[in-house]
Amino acid sequence: MSNLTPAYYEKFTCLGSECPDTCCQGWRITLDEKTHNKYISSEDKYISETSSKYITKFKNPKRDLFSYISMNNKGHCPFLNKNKLCSIQVKHGENILSGTCDTFPKIHIEYPDHIKLCTLDISCPEAARLCLTDPKSMKILENKKEVQNNFIKLLPEKYKNSKIGEKVLNFCFSLTTNEKLKLNEISLIINLIIQQRENLYNNENLVDSFLTDLKKNFIGKDIINFDTSYIKIEFLNDFSFLLKKRIENAEAEYQYFSDLLADAHHELFGRFKSIEDAAINFKNTEKIYFKQYNTDKNYIFRNFYANELLQNCIIFTNPQRFKENTMLLSYLTNVIIRYLCLSDLSKKKKLDEQNLVNYFYKVKRAYALYASHTPYMQKKISDDVLVLLKKIDPNSAFNSLYFLNN
Ligand code: SF4
Repeated sequence: MSNLTPAYYEKFTCLGSECPDTCCQGWRITLDEKTHNKYISSEDKYISETSSKYITKFKNPKRDLFSYISMNNKGHCPFLNKNKLCSIQVKHGENILSGTCDTFPKIHIEYPDHIKLCTLDISCPEAARLCLTDPKSMKILENKKEVQNNFIKLLPEKYKNSKIGEKVLNFCFSLTTNEKLKLNEISLIINLIIQQRENLYNNENLVDSFLTDLKKNFIGKDIINFDTSYIKIEFLNDFSFLLKKRIENAEAEYQYFSDLLADAHHELFGRFKSIEDAAINFKNTEKIYFKQYNTDKNYIFRNFYANELLQNCIIFTNPQRFKENTMLLSYLTNVIIRYLCLSDLSKKKKLDEQNLVNYFYKVKRAYALYASHTPYMQKKISDDVLVLLKKIDPNSAFNSLYFLNN
């Protein structure tokens, strides 16, 4: 048996009632069909009545994604008690809990021969803190011991074909965790690999030269040499408008996200008399303050991307099944967090690390506002946000995100 984890995973302990936020507020908790039925038909009157009031079936319910618990008018899970503990768990133990509540924030991806890759969802504030703020958080451990060359060995030798996916994943992971390389250049390489992954599986002898060529062609090249401030401000404007409409129709759980985004929109665009003035401020904030922050705290965004790669490792090791490019959602999350950082930097000329950690977990929690699910239950960017991205590059959502993240 082999448990592969990033180093920060082993340090995690749930903060319980000390948690600044708890996982029982501020987002939508999904239920599988079995748990849904258990809650609705519970013999406990409090559970069944609360369930009838707050649980809603999805329009197209699936066995694993059947219904969701809405938050109460304070934005909390209706089952959360005064001590910030789950009343269902207190009464009936953890066996009755939905998969989301039982395992959160742990993510376990199983491979043959009892190999498991475990990481954490950084929509938990403690997971976000441990993952993002330690330059060494992405050291890979196997059964708690450091592995050689940080290599993620997911498959036994006999799975010859899938080993190509393992090789490619490790190539992407080693680039992402290399502090000398620029994240945006790496995202270009990863995107091309994802596009070509089925071809790579069919042409094993070309894999090494393909990866070497990618490095040669994209590392250290300044691909964008024009000002992208206008594009970024216009997308912020469109995106804020779209989300404002969504949040108006959503429960109180997204209020905090709405406030953060509205604040950033005002600071970076709304308060200026013209888009030209906003663009000057945007450009200066990005080039002077954000660039400096990113140089000093290079590992924060790097750790975020590395963790996203681990969560999405199956894109590389199972290319037939997972057609959707779920990494695009990670790039969009980064775009939103970047706006929140720029807003702080524009206002205060500095960025507090704890605030940045908070932005990551809060934006990740609000994903239902800008994402949907593929038929294989992978998260992807929602169609209306894709329409906005098409305004930047009609042919490629990745290219649009690349401009926004550059
Ligand atoms: S958000 Fe994280 S730390 Fe807070 S209660 Fe949930 S699992 Fe524990």
